[in-house]
Amino acid sequence: MEFPSEFIRFLTKASRVAVLTGAGVSQESGLRTFRDAQSGLWAQYRPEDLASPEAFARDPKLVWDWYAWRREAIKGVRPNAGHYALTEMEKKISEFTLVTQNVDGLHRIAGSANILELHGNILKVRCSECGTFTETWDDDVESVPRCEKCNGLLRPDVVWFGESLPRAELEAAVNAARTCQVFFSIGTSGVVQSAAALAHAARNKGSVVVEINAEPTPLTPKVDFAFHGKSGEILPELVKAVWANGLS
Ligand SMILES: [Zn+2]
Repeated sequence: MEFPSEFIRFLTKASRVAVLTGAGVSQESGLRTFRDAQSGLWAQYRPEDLASPEAFARDPKLVWDWYAWRREAIKGVRPNAGHYALTEMEKKISEFTLVTQNVDGLHRIAGSANILELHGNILKVRCSECGTFTETWDDDVESVPRCEKCNGLLRPDVVWFGESLPRAELEAAVNAARTCQVFFSIGTSGVVQSAAALAHAARNKGSVVVEINAEPTPLTPKVDFAFHGKSGEILPELVKAVWANGLS
């Protein structure tokens, strides 16, 4: 892929970069999207019936089992070349913030360090009552495991329908978008409100906004540069084009 020289110049000089990633990046690792993560016996449910506080209150075991099933599915999935290219980019840029909507933890596995998980992490479990995180729990076929401290039900550390985004992460993400010189929107349709807001925050502050996505999105007409294709192919080429020539 040929990148405009103007774009390469911007990136070569940038010391503050913020990146937002969405489901498309995980999909390229073979992970099914949230809405596709319902096959077999889960096909009869809508995501809203499995991923909301109301669903958990109504049938905690059903919700717990869906997440246990999804955690198992994630174990077989590896980061792709796009994830690794972002870890390379982080090494080259002094202030690099990776904001992700993905809950699969693949960026962490790939080695990214400064990550803001806007929608939580499906591999983490916390108490639904007192919020205490737990590393281990006893899976019981009959019931949802409980908190050692307060005996509350354990739940995945993800943001459900009807819940707000974690405040500290969201504030840090907005701050990164407002202060970066280059903002990337990667593998996200840009229609999720938080994602659109970050891109607009970056744009309003004069950042160069870049989209990398399989196809055009509602954000495309508003960005400075758009590249359509696989992030697992475009990102490694970009890192090579910017940093492999010895000029930076
Ligand atoms: Zn508790």
